[in-house]
Amino acid sequence: QQDLYAVYGASGCGRGIMPLARQQLVLAGVPASRLVFVDDAPGPAKVNGQRLMTYAQFLGEPAAARYAVLAIAKSAVREALAQRCAADGVQPWAVTAANVVQMDDVQLGVGAVLSPFVTLTSNIRIGRHFHANLYSYVEHDCVLGDFVTFAPRVHCNGNVVIEDHAYIGTGAILKQGQPGKPLVIGRGAVVGMGAVVTKSVPAGVTVVGNPARMLVK
Ligand code: UDP
Repeated sequence: QQDLYAVYGASGCGRGIMPLARQQLVLAGVPASRLVFVDDAPGPAKVNGQRLMTYAQFLGEPAAARYAVLAIAKSAVREALAQRCAADGVQPWAVTAANVVQMDDVQLGVGAVLSPFVTLTSNIRIGRHFHANLYSYVEHDCVLGDFVTFAPRVHCNGNVVIEDHAYIGTGAILKQGQPGKPLVIGRGAVVGMGAVVTKSVPAGVTVVGNPARMLVK
């Protein structure tokens, strides 16, 4: 029996990850027919040529082993699905675009999604289920927690710490920290599109603008 691979989430995020997943498998000699979309909402039989099934169907399909990449931007959903998959023996799967650049001493946790044109430079630590969307980079000596999400073109400069579940919006720029004195994006914080973050951001808050300031709701 062959292994079975899933892109979990068949909406915008998943449809952007599927072609990368397909290419990765085909290069490894796995036929594209062993790759499916899984989604908890009902949908058509196929999405962009790839079978769509429910999670129960995915578990019921004969397979030697099952792997899933969590292709959903909301980090809380990724965490819940990671727990569900672990409980059912579905293994985390990482998907990396062919042109991603990774330099020296990059430690990447399970389940990462690295989109086209992403660069991870040297001496970087990243937790589980990281999403780095198109053109984002992580510079030297950064430490990222679990379930961190980068929208496209995030500029994460050196010596930045990003705690679990933070979300960095499209085009945001995070100013470089210093060795032993990093710029810190707190747990669950949200950095708005195009923000220029010049100082640390507390956990749970949203910052926007240049220089980035806390959004008062
Ligand atoms: N979804 C799911 N299980 C969950 C939560 C979400 O299968 O527990 C699916 C949902 O049905 C939808 C996708 O994940 O198809 C999320 O799509 P959305 O457009 O909200 O976000 P994105 O694709 O941008 O992450």
